[in-house]
Amino acid sequence: MTHLLHRSIKARLPVAVGGKGIEIFDQEGRTYIDASGGAAVSCLGHSHPDVLAALHDQLDRIAYAHTSFFTSDVAERLADRLAADAPEGLGHVYLVSGGSEAIEAALKMARQYFVEKGEPQRRHIIARRQSYHGNTLGALAAGGNEWRRAQFKPLLIETHHIDPCYAYRLQEPGESDEAYAARAAQALEDKIVELGADQVIAFVAETVVGATAGAVPPVADYLKRVRTICDRYGVLLILDEVMCGMGRTGTLHACEQEGVAPDLMTIAKGLGGGYQPIGAVLLSDRIFDAFASGSGFFQHGHTYMGHPMAAAAALAVQEVIRRDNLLQNVRAMGMHLSRRLNERFANHHNVGDIRGRGLFQAIELVTDRSTKAPFDPALKLHARIKQEAMANGLMVYPMGGTIDGRLGDHVLVAPPFIAAPRDIDAIVERLGDAVDAAIEDAQ
Ligand code: PLP
Repeated sequence: MTHLLHRSIKARLPVAVGGKGIEIFDQEGRTYIDASGGAAVSCLGHSHPDVLAALHDQLDRIAYAHTSFFTSDVAERLADRLAADAPEGLGHVYLVSGGSEAIEAALKMARQYFVEKGEPQRRHIIARRQSYHGNTLGALAAGGNEWRRAQFKPLLIETHHIDPCYAYRLQEPGESDEAYAARAAQALEDKIVELGADQVIAFVAETVVGATAGAVPPVADYLKRVRTICDRYGVLLILDEVMCGMGRTGTLHACEQEGVAPDLMTIAKGLGGGYQPIGAVLLSDRIFDAFASGSGFFQHGHTYMGHPMAAAAALAVQEVIRRDNLLQNVRAMGMHLSRRLNERFANHHNVGDIRGRGLFQAIELVTDRSTKAPFDPALKLHARIKQEAMANGLMVYPMGGTIDGRLGDHVLVAPPFIAAPRDIDAIVERLGDAVDAAIEDAQ
């Protein structure tokens, strides 16, 4: 009996004892290809020597200094780097310890911005169904996954959810991308008008949806339209790139590919690559200036914000990505992954959709490709796939539940940016076997 409360009380987990490159080793001597970077975290793989050296170096200087007393050189340098590479206008950085903390901070920044501006009546957050923004109460309220929210609903701040931009499920047959983008964005405008334009604080969305639906990119122009609508009504746009950001889709920020810059952006997983817990909010100069010329501070804070060890890890990870030109590899390996997934699954009876960007791709599973009918959720197909894959030495990230919390199973593939073609080939081969075995087992 373990004293540690695991995610699942019944599951018996292998004990990870080591990792190198894209592999993790367990206590029994088994090796796993980390084809999901955990949950799209380990962008440099495991035990990267440059990151380990940076961590040792920082540890030798100072591990921790509370941010109400001190700043640190390493946190300042990380913020400079992130601001220099940020989308236009996002010139300021708030460092926290993970994705949920980043979302909480972004929601509160958005609210405080309007308080500073003399619009304290603004109180509504609009977000999307089929989204995940984290598990703390504010982040859970913003998220649109009913299964995760259900039992905590009485504790959640009121958030208004609209349909996501999810072409495979929600684009009408024969509807052009342009018409669908317009219709999906119109849902935001309708909601703003319904709530009262001067009552709305922000719209929150994942640029490319991650855990709840599996690497769902927006159709062309959807986010541009969203940006225009937000501007029309003075509503802030928060893009959550905790999972899809920091290079995972082939550009440093996923929104670069949409030609859109938000007012606030959250980043986390790939920022520190799992070497330390770290997240950040990138905020616009406009929001920073409102705080600076108003109350003079953001009314928030955590004991571990701006942690020097976390900043050292993130700075080293980001320097390696730049030095080794890894975004180029993400793009090249992303194309290779897409090719391989299509070769293996395009004619698969139970794979309805193959999608994603860069090294952030997914397959969606259906019982019938023509009706897109999902598997019975009671079969927990995603969990079976995970089990089969692990038995076969492969870590992928299968999840269940999409729009209404029960539709669909999907498998996310998000290998480290250092992956080589032969790694991608092995990943797709093992994934194919795991999917087939799980479906056979479920039927
Ligand atoms: N936002 C998105 C898009 C995520 O995918 C996640 C985690 O999966 C979070 C926020 C929450 O991040 P964390 O688990 O670090 O709190």
